[in-house]
Amino acid sequence: MIPALMPTYNRADLAFERGEGAWMWTVDGRRFLDFGSGIATSSIGHGHPHLVKAIAEQAAKVMHVSNLYRVPQAEELARRHVEASFADSVFFCNSGAEANEGMVKAVRKYHAENGQPERFRMICFEGAFHGRTLAMLAATGNEKYLAGFGPPVQGFDHVPFGNMNAVRDAITPETAGIMIEPIQGEGGVRPAELRFLRELRAVCDEFGLLLALDEVQTGMGRSGKLWAHQWAGIEPDVMSAAKGIGGGFPLGAILAKEKVAQHLKPGTHGTTYGGGPLACTAGNAVLDVVLAPGFLDQVDRVARHLWRGFEVLAERHPTVAEGVRGAGLLIGLQLRPGIANTEMQAACVAEGLLTVAAGQNVLRVAPPLIITEAEVDQALEMLDRACRRMTPSASQEAAK
Ligand SMILES: *Cc1c(COP(=O)(O)O)cnc(C)c1O
Repeated sequence: MIPALMPTYNRADLAFERGEGAWMWTVDGRRFLDFGSGIATSSIGHGHPHLVKAIAEQAAKVMHVSNLYRVPQAEELARRHVEASFADSVFFCNSGAEANEGMVKAVRKYHAENGQPERFRMICFEGAFHGRTLAMLAATGNEKYLAGFGPPVQGFDHVPFGNMNAVRDAITPETAGIMIEPIQGEGGVRPAELRFLRELRAVCDEFGLLLALDEVQTGMGRSGKLWAHQWAGIEPDVMSAAKGIGGGFPLGAILAKEKVAQHLKPGTHGTTYGGGPLACTAGNAVLDVVLAPGFLDQVDRVARHLWRGFEVLAERHPTVAEGVRGAGLLIGLQLRPGIANTEMQAACVAEGLLTVAAGQNVLRVAPPLIITEAEVDQALEMLDRACRRMTPSASQEAAK
């Protein structure tokens, strides 16, 4: 018989009861070091006192009002995001897919309002992940996810990640914009070269296209800067965010330049929950932590420590790993073809470490941004033991 909870996921048999910082405890009392952060979402760790207090106090005052009214918490959060980024205006929603949908709508609307409604197509990239709604399945373009759900939504063209000639060749009079993750997360922790991002900016300017960045996974300090595109020294025209911005509370956002945002007039876009007082209070509390002086410098320091540790790990276990990829606190261990990332993930669980598998047989880690160097060292020891579990000769030893 089908479980009451719809079986849409391959769940590990772990049920967590509570968390504190980078640590989590299961209902049966086992302790884990969380290097997954609920897929880069629990950005400031579990049970952060500032976030917990803010949510609890706001919940007691008012949880939901409607966008029929002003929401001071949303006005404040938008103002702060504008101040800290390229954007002139922010729209709040509830998830990454919803933010991406709105972002694509904003791009299409921009051209329609500028007298070119025929420009509605987005150039996207092979290996991308943009979410699970009907349009974002088409933007993602992965046959496996699209199968069985009818004709894909029109208007998404795919080219190889990092290939500038292919991008240029794909531009037609119907092209509206280019949509890209600065680092492909689900696709295997693949960073775009900074030069490629700069070239995309230039080609958008040349052809009047909008550059739309999906920073759902890479944003909110994960790369060591607030937004990953800052490493390339470029500004997008519009950007989506979610995951880390609510610190575990559902919150998504579209950040846009005025030339894009000005066309989203009343009646063009909306959502019931988006930008509510509780979610925006969470968003403000997360910003308090992430924008505190020195916080992102510390993320960058710990991230470099983690990177070095991963390089040592890959060198020490050449039969398990063949390289390291990623940036900041979004790092992947590229595993050998014979070593399945799901098995490596299970070996990590056996050592007390939570990780996340990613595409191209990569083991991904995305610890909370509050992680310390000492905790990184603990994780590296667990990973070292997990690698030994996976080493072919070790399993032969064990079989004797
Ligand atoms: C997770 C993710 C999404 C989808 O976000 P949801 O909140 O699951 O809808 C979109 N884009 C990227 C890059 C993501 O990592």
